[in-house]
Amino acid sequence: MIRICRECDEETGEPIAVALEHTASCGGRVIYLCPPCRFVLGVVPLAEHPEGSDGRVRFEACP
Ligand SMILES: [Zn+2]
Repeated sequence: MIRICRECDEETGEPIAVALEHTASCGGRVIYLCPPCRFVLGVVPLAEHPEGSDGRVRFEACP
C-alpha cells in the first residue's frame, strides 16, 4: 500500500494512519505519515488511540 505522507509529501510503502480528517460533507479521511515523520513529530498511530478517540492527531506525551 503506497500512500502520500501528509508531512513531507513523499510516497511511503509503510504508511501509518495517524488521524481522521473530518470534513463537513463526506465523513472522515485517513491521514497518513511515513515512519520517519511520525517518529520526528511524535504522533500517536491511530491504532493506538484510546477508545472513544475522535480521530484527531494526538502527540505522544512528554516523559
Ligand atoms: Zn514523511
